[in-house]
Amino acid sequence: MNRDGCLALDAADPLGDFHSRFQLPAELIYLDGNSLGALPKNVVEALQRTVTAEWGDSLIAGWNSHGWIDLPQLVGEKIAPLLGVAPGQVVATDSTSVNVFKLLSAGLELRPGRRVVLSSRSNFPTDLYMAQGLSELLGESRCVLELTEDERLADAITEDVAVVMLTHVDFRSGRMWDMADLTHRAHEAGAIVLWDLAHSAGAVPLSLDECEVDLAVGCGYKYLNGGPGAPAFVYVAERHQSILRQPLTGWMGHRDPFEFSPHYQPAEGMNRVLAGTPSVLAMRALEAALDIFAEVSMTALRSKSLALMETFQDLVDGCPELAELKLRSPRDADLRGSQLSYAHPDGYALMQALIAEGVVGDFREPDLLRFGFTPLYLRFVDVFDAVETLRRVVADGRYRAPEFRQRARVT
Ligand SMILES: *Cc1c(COP(=O)(O)O)cnc(C)c1O
Repeated sequence: MNRDGCLALDAADPLGDFHSRFQLPAELIYLDGNSLGALPKNVVEALQRTVTAEWGDSLIAGWNSHGWIDLPQLVGEKIAPLLGVAPGQVVATDSTSVNVFKLLSAGLELRPGRRVVLSSRSNFPTDLYMAQGLSELLGESRCVLELTEDERLADAITEDVAVVMLTHVDFRSGRMWDMADLTHRAHEAGAIVLWDLAHSAGAVPLSLDECEVDLAVGCGYKYLNGGPGAPAFVYVAERHQSILRQPLTGWMGHRDPFEFSPHYQPAEGMNRVLAGTPSVLAMRALEAALDIFAEVSMTALRSKSLALMETFQDLVDGCPELAELKLRSPRDADLRGSQLSYAHPDGYALMQALIAEGVVGDFREPDLLRFGFTPLYLRFVDVFDAVETLRRVVADGRYRAPEFRQRARVT
């Protein structure tokens, strides 16, 4: 594939027009939308309106007159189609970490007499840390975290396990679990499943209802483009909602918050997952970002994502200077999400040098260069130019300069 071929693919791309809906620095190629999605232009308008016309003009009345109080449900319903779920099962609230805590605790309570939370050693650390915190709080008689290697996970789902907690798309390799199969295996052993969809929602087609998933959480600021620190989301299958109990029993999860009763009584349905007051500005940003997804199908996004990754892979494979890069994502595209990871012995410095040249991916320990593919705003020509820049940076060895070895707080 040459540059003209990539331009031709862009010209024929049914999603090509969406690029102009995002505000992106002209000289930047952004392959990090899996960490922080780009800024949709309609988010700027939505925030301006919310700040001046809603907050500014309406003040406290805005909770009713602008429906601020209903934003967790409203935004949740916009996320629901991306998860393949019927209405009434998703709310946007809190952070992914906090939601993991709530749902893990809820999952354990759904399986009294069992205490094991089973997860993979490779899982995203915050999920494991939250499980460790819950275990300290409840004591080991009620919650123990067991970790296995990925290959052994399915066989470790025994009748002791209360909750199988997994991240659907691995943040390092992009490897994607078989959600239907593992959910089924968990249910056969009588366990609940809790899926973390941080790298799945808005990246790959999902069908949680069809897979009979019990519980799920996910992130608003990655592929959903809700902005830095955007609210996360929670899914609870309808069949569990009336008995679900979660420990962060704040007033927004109360049956009638404005009754101001001294006694907590959980709300009906999904509202019981809520704790405190929704962050209205952040909710409005995420809401506007989600409106873009209403115009495209996840199937169309997935096929462009696969085509972008295939182009990237072919270009890297065809480039002798890049032979030192080793693909750490599954070669089989069906087994991965929307990212490619390559190991390189000097990965950190190489990524810093690449970023200095205007191609933004990120680095994950110990040696991974990570590239996210966001079909809404990434073009085939960007992929071409990114690999060409990578080739130059490797070929002339500039990444070996000391300036590229300094670690920032966020990598
Ligand atoms: C990004 C990510 C999170 C982030 O959690 P926060 O609470 O938003 O910091 C959680 N889980 C996974 C798998 C992630 O990739």
